[in-house]
Amino acid sequence: MADSKEKLAADAKSLKDIAAGIARCRGCRLWERATQAVGGEGSPKSRIVFVGEQPGDQEDIAGKPFVGPAGRVLDEALEKAGVDRREVYVTNAVKHFSWEPRGKRRMHKTPAQQEIAACQDWLAAELRLIRPDLIVALGGTAVRALLGPGAKVLINRGKFLPSDWGAKVLVTVHPSSILRVPPEDRKEAFEAFVRDLSHIKRVS
Ligand code: SF4
Repeated sequence: MADSKEKLAADAKSLKDIAAGIARCRGCRLWERATQAVGGEGSPKSRIVFVGEQPGDQEDIAGKPFVGPAGRVLDEALEKAGVDRREVYVTNAVKHFSWEPRGKRRMHKTPAQQEIAACQDWLAAELRLIRPDLIVALGGTAVRALLGPGAKVLINRGKFLPSDWGAKVLVTVHPSSILRVPPEDRKEAFEAFVRDLSHIKRVS
């Protein structure tokens, strides 16, 4: 009998083991409609781990996290905040793309709490191997995955919160939320995001 997701994640000794594990994971139904699993990216020696929600349409095809429009917002904000993306590890709370069809398009669908919980073994394995000094939670799904189902972005935004992961969690919005605000408010939303990320310098 094949090893369970829980055992594979708990036994993972490297990020490569995690990549192999998520590629064959059937821990929830999201794998069925995704092109491939998308793991984290970055050095296992990174001191900061960014956790987003899930791979988007472009990430699902590319097999890499944060390569789509939200990834470009994150790159720009990191640069403005003085954080080198090459020195951080980026991943998602959920490793397969959750989507629903709308015409010919695959529209993002927020993962259910059950799917976030199912995928938590893999996130835990990444954090266990990397042992970062700081985790940055990008948006509601990451906040719930890291701090519990009742945790909220808006009341915790910009704060360093204690966690069970061996590192504080800095809460901020997901970069995709900046793309959804009306164009006239986008600059302000982006600047607020950069302000949140600028706090990282306090611990790095
Ligand atoms: S989303 Fe996570 S738990 Fe669900 S199948 Fe993919 S890797 Fe497994």
